[in-house]
Amino acid sequence: MPINHSAVLLLLFAGLSAAQPYDLLIAGGRVLDGAGNPAMYADIAVRDGKIAAVGRLRGVAASRTIDAKGKFVCPGFIDLHSHADRGLASEDRRRRSAPNLVSQGITTVCVNPDGASPWPLSKQREAYGRLGIGPNAALLIGHGTVRRLILKDDYKRPATTEEIRGMRDLVRLGMREKAFGMSAGLEYVPGIWSTTDELIDLVREVAAHNGVYIVHQRSESTDPRWFQPSLDKPGQPTMLDAVEETIRIGEQTGATVVWSHAKAMGANYWGSSKAAIRLIARARARGVDVWTDQYPYNSTGGDGATVLIPAWAIGDDAFAGARGRAVKADYAAALRRTMEDPAKSEKVRSDITHEMARRGGPENVVVFDHPDRSFVGKSLDALSTRRGITPVQMTLELQYEGYRDRPRGARLRGFSVWEDDVDSIMAQPWTATSTDAGIALPEDGPDTHARFYGSYPRKLRHYALDRGVISIEGAVRSSTSLPAQILGIRDRGLVREGLAADLVIFDPAAVRDKATFSEPHQYAEGIDFVLVNGKFAVDGGKLTGALAGKLLEPQESQK
Ligand SMILES: [Zn+2]
Repeated sequence: MPINHSAVLLLLFAGLSAAQPYDLLIAGGRVLDGAGNPAMYADIAVRDGKIAAVGRLRGVAASRTIDAKGKFVCPGFIDLHSHADRGLASEDRRRRSAPNLVSQGITTVCVNPDGASPWPLSKQREAYGRLGIGPNAALLIGHGTVRRLILKDDYKRPATTEEIRGMRDLVRLGMREKAFGMSAGLEYVPGIWSTTDELIDLVREVAAHNGVYIVHQRSESTDPRWFQPSLDKPGQPTMLDAVEETIRIGEQTGATVVWSHAKAMGANYWGSSKAAIRLIARARARGVDVWTDQYPYNSTGGDGATVLIPAWAIGDDAFAGARGRAVKADYAAALRRTMEDPAKSEKVRSDITHEMARRGGPENVVVFDHPDRSFVGKSLDALSTRRGITPVQMTLELQYEGYRDRPRGARLRGFSVWEDDVDSIMAQPWTATSTDAGIALPEDGPDTHARFYGSYPRKLRHYALDRGVISIEGAVRSSTSLPAQILGIRDRGLVREGLAADLVIFDPAAVRDKATFSEPHQYAEGIDFVLVNGKFAVDGGKLTGALAGKLLEPQESQK
């Protein structure tokens, strides 16, 4: 009797899958698939780190079943601007598990932002692979790193044609070492001195490998963060100039370009996100592949160390500590000496006024630490009104009366971003979510920005569910499939059969960020389960410390 081989195989296969339960069944949840579709009721089965089935799967065998009734289930979040690179290489296993990130639902980080990467990337890959990491990681080449390798210490100038060729060779090497693209930090050393032509030449190499260019732009305000009226030439680039530069780089190279941590800083610049949005919309209409990412806060990283009095006025040598000398200056006395000179005094006052406006105005600069505890939590506006002096004079008084051995006498935080601009940028379909955060542990101290712990839950709670700035589907999409698409990641960012089981289960009634600027080290609530490649990073609201992250590789042929 002839044997029907295929029928036998089919029977065998059916028997095998029936006998072999799924690793996990997430049952009864509402699935937000990451594509922006409204939620649907579906069960999700996971096997061998992948999404094995999506649909009505009641009754199938699984080693473990999670009842997700009343919860949303969505893809893991992909952070387009992450400073986790250093923490992921830490000797401390707990740090490498990235508790502040995975507790937000982040399952993939795109690291080496702002133009700074380790070199060579192969060493970074080797370290991550050997040590094990919590979330998945995609690597970028740092433009500033490459620039320093070629120009060495002579970087305060445009590069020559020869040098640009040398940098381009390094970019090619980095792309061959499986970078997803290049980051730049044009408001930082040494990116400040690069020309647009230099960047275009290098981004051509990135584009040739289907990579992405993600940029901390030259300016985020009326002028760059390093600008001081008393020292620098006027007419420096504005945020809008910088957006035009990013668009031009995308237009001339054909690369995917991203204006990273998009914002408009400074009370005298608020509202200009509208003009930036219009520039991007017009560029996109003519085919430029330009995007943004954003963290959902009105205070920046730089705001957390707001500096109003210029360093020269207090004889502050910022590099003394780095050179190993003990810093024991009397900054109050130094400031008094400076202010006795009328010409210098006027310059100090104009620098303070400028910086105060850029930080949101005196009502938006708040004291976070000062020996007089009654100052803490108060704005410069409130403190100066109480004394009947100007906010500029109040700033000087903080140094005179504050910690004498601490530059500027107090710790200040600005709120340099207008909520209206946050809303406008977030509402654009081409804005992805990011944290601009690294890995933090609760013992790290008070200087940590709330975004380290709260970015994604805050977007879900405050901006989507409570205020409707973006729909919940849109908030999830901008945190999952959108950054995946920008980076060219094809096997993550959606709930689909065959994709990696990076998944988040959250409770829409409970999800919220808890981190504040005065108490940043607080984990979010309502993120109940987080899976990285099918392994639990968060299980029933508890961190597991898992190191299930993979080093991602660009899938060039598919992009
Ligand atoms: Zn940055």
